[in-house]
Amino acid sequence: MKIDRVGAFTDNYIWVLGPPNDDHVVVVDPGDATPVRRWLKRTGLQLAGILITHHHADHTGGIAELIGDARVPVLGPSRAELPFVTRELRDGDRVPVLGTELAVLSTPGHTRDHLSFAGDGFVLTGDTLFAGGCGRLFEGTAEQMHGSLMRLAALPGATRVYCGHEYTEANLRFALEVEPENLALRDRLQRVRVLRHDGSTTVPSTVDEELATNPFLRCGEATVVAAASRQSGHRVPPGHETLAVIRRWKDSWTAPYGR
Ligand SMILES: [Zn+2]
Repeated sequence: MKIDRVGAFTDNYIWVLGPPNDDHVVVVDPGDATPVRRWLKRTGLQLAGILITHHHADHTGGIAELIGDARVPVLGPSRAELPFVTRELRDGDRVPVLGTELAVLSTPGHTRDHLSFAGDGFVLTGDTLFAGGCGRLFEGTAEQMHGSLMRLAALPGATRVYCGHEYTEANLRFALEVEPENLALRDRLQRVRVLRHDGSTTVPSTVDEELATNPFLRCGEATVVAAASRQSGHRVPPGHETLAVIRRWKDSWTAPYGR
């Protein structure tokens, strides 16, 4: 499966899936129809379907216009805000996408309805797992987010992680506050800074890279648990309680940027 990137708004990624040598593609989370239409026109490829990870407008705002252009199936969570969904997906479902099959994983935390899609060697994580971070807890609990991240972390280490936003540099700068001695993290931040300076994307990453550097996947590591305990002023147990402290810490740390 070939995966192309269409940028939207300031930092959203709309992923376009299509087998090589096929003139059909499926788009994931089209928050804006305009860049998708432009991409389809430029490549001469045809839209065959739409996949949705969660109901937020920056992931769904372009659906109405795109299905106005071509009546394609829309697969996503069951949610009142998503009237265009033609097939409601649940955890454990398998979705045929142009000759490949994607596994549907329920990954609540950022929202209650959030889904991730795991394919052969890649996973689409929307606003659950970001490169170097995780989504804000808008509807779900820290316990749910921790469970969701642990499911994604259990995928094979080489799995490429396609998330919904380019937040990596800010995420890693925060991660370094949590784990200043993490050498893999320092190294990654340096590489990401070079990429961003050149205007390049930092996505996809891999599950292995996230396991080594993403504090939200490292809530069982002594260094991260100690940082959470220092931050909260009392001893915090590893796991979702550590995640809750780190998430709150990051909410105040990046508050002006809404991440
Ligand atoms: Zn979202």
